[in-house]
Amino acid sequence: MRKTKAHLWGFVVVAACALGLLTVASTSPIGIDVLANESSSHYCADIVFGTNEYSSSGTLGAGSFSTHGCTIDAVTASSAYCPSNNISGNNNYSARIGKSGGAGSLTFTFSGLKITKVKVLAFLFGTDYSVKKEALCTVSTSAFTEGSSQSVTSNAVPDISDSSTDAGLVFTGLDNGGQLSTSLTISSSATARFNLCKLVLTISSASVTSSISSVPSSISSSQGAYAPITFNFVEQGNQYSGDCTYIKAGDNDILIDAGNRTSCATTIESYLEDSSRPNNYVSDGKLEYVIATHAHQDHIAGFVGVSDSSSAGMNGVLYHYSVGTLIDFALANTTSTIYANYQTARTYAVNKGTKHFTALQCWNNEGNGASKHYELGTGLTMDILYNYYYENTGSDENNYSVCVLFTQGSKHFLFTGDLEADGETRLVANNTLPTVELFKGGHHGSYTANTDALLSVIQPKLVCICACVGNSEYASTNDHSFPAQESINRLAPYTDRVYCTTLGTWGSSTAHEPMNGNIVVKYDSSSLESMTFSNNSTKLKDTAWFKANRTTPSAWA
Ligand SMILES: [Zn+2]
Ligand SMILES: [Zn+2]
Repeated sequence: MRKTKAHLWGFVVVAACALGLLTVASTSPIGIDVLANESSSHYCADIVFGTNEYSSSGTLGAGSFSTHGCTIDAVTASSAYCPSNNISGNNNYSARIGKSGGAGSLTFTFSGLKITKVKVLAFLFGTDYSVKKEALCTVSTSAFTEGSSQSVTSNAVPDISDSSTDAGLVFTGLDNGGQLSTSLTISSSATARFNLCKLVLTISSASVTSSISSVPSSISSSQGAYAPITFNFVEQGNQYSGDCTYIKAGDNDILIDAGNRTSCATTIESYLEDSSRPNNYVSDGKLEYVIATHAHQDHIAGFVGVSDSSSAGMNGVLYHYSVGTLIDFALANTTSTIYANYQTARTYAVNKGTKHFTALQCWNNEGNGASKHYELGTGLTMDILYNYYYENTGSDENNYSVCVLFTQGSKHFLFTGDLEADGETRLVANNTLPTVELFKGGHHGSYTANTDALLSVIQPKLVCICACVGNSEYASTNDHSFPAQESINRLAPYTDRVYCTTLGTWGSSTAHEPMNGNIVVKYDSSSLESMTFSNNSTKLKDTAWFKANRTTPSAWA
């Protein structure tokens, strides 16, 4: 997908002022922006947005600004300037945040909102532009204090009447699990400053909804009731690395990859049908969607299972379950036996009624079930991302991986299979990726994936890795055993919430035990996250293995 849309917005407030230049429509073309009332009764004297640079050190006074249930009680500035009263004559001026060589910030104080998303339209300060080509814009809320940063890279004045969801810098996940935000801070880095033209806040909160009278009912009625989604990173029961993620998405049972050996079929099916768990997931014998990311054994072996000549012996996932839609890789280089057996299993499923599409067919929206966009429930979607290697051959099987983005409300969850550095770079270039709540660590945590090119865009808040940590199956040095030191160093600036399924031992070809074990991450109908683990909840950085085998990156110190 080249444009990522939030499919279910709470509602959108454009905190815009009474600007002479700002032409305001009462409804946006795509029906999701609710623009502030620009009449003189709605003063926002303390927030100045516009299109011209403002260079005076104006004072921010107390003021009131209330629209659509969003009340700003106060605005405070640190090395940020805007006219003290835009209503009376300075209404074309943007706020200037930061100063040459010094950071600045504007903080808006609310009585309590659940801010899930902030869109920032800004441009580089003119006199800095010739020297400094970008400024870092960081947005944080009281509910997500560490914030999220993106670069302002243009001195072109943005179109502040643009109400599309993807205009400007978009910051998501700012509610940190549904907490109320009493403040919102927009800040610049120390190296450059920028001019703030417009903020768009996406707010999701029942307490706010009740005060909204002017929001279209089709929007307000959709708040707060998403279909839940639960991600299960399943242990595979042996000393090998491999992927298997089971996802309960609304009423849909989804499996992405099926483990590293044919024997994993038994392990996975036992997990999915464990009647002792409250969520005895697959009780009807049906998987609505199955995704096979690429042709490597450690992703497809469990689809094949033990497929001996008797039908009773066929226990592979594609034999055992009724599969609704199977989406797999468009290209493969390998001629391995397991891949041939996978194709046989796939044919078996198709003959039983499974719809089979490659990710490229989905991307091309070929129809009859092949789609790049699937609705899974209220406010819950699955998008097949575009991967250059769906239609271009390469030397590395991993780069053929099917890449999938799940979205619940404003939260996103990314799966890239074993995509390598080159694939990640192209993924970023070809898709408008959002920041994500959850990222399945790329290629089991390999140093050849999890690049800055991808991580700087998706800025994951949680990383789950399917691997047998620390063994030598795919590594010639301990540093490169999964998860590799380089990957850890690159992930660390974004989150210390890194978890792994299984623990191995360097130098042992057989040792394995649960690390976190089966990792279960649930986002409920209010998009609140909860996690459970079959073994323990210890973060990677706090494990004995980490302390003995890895160097703590500075961000985790
Ligand atoms: Zn793999
Ligand atoms: Zn692979």
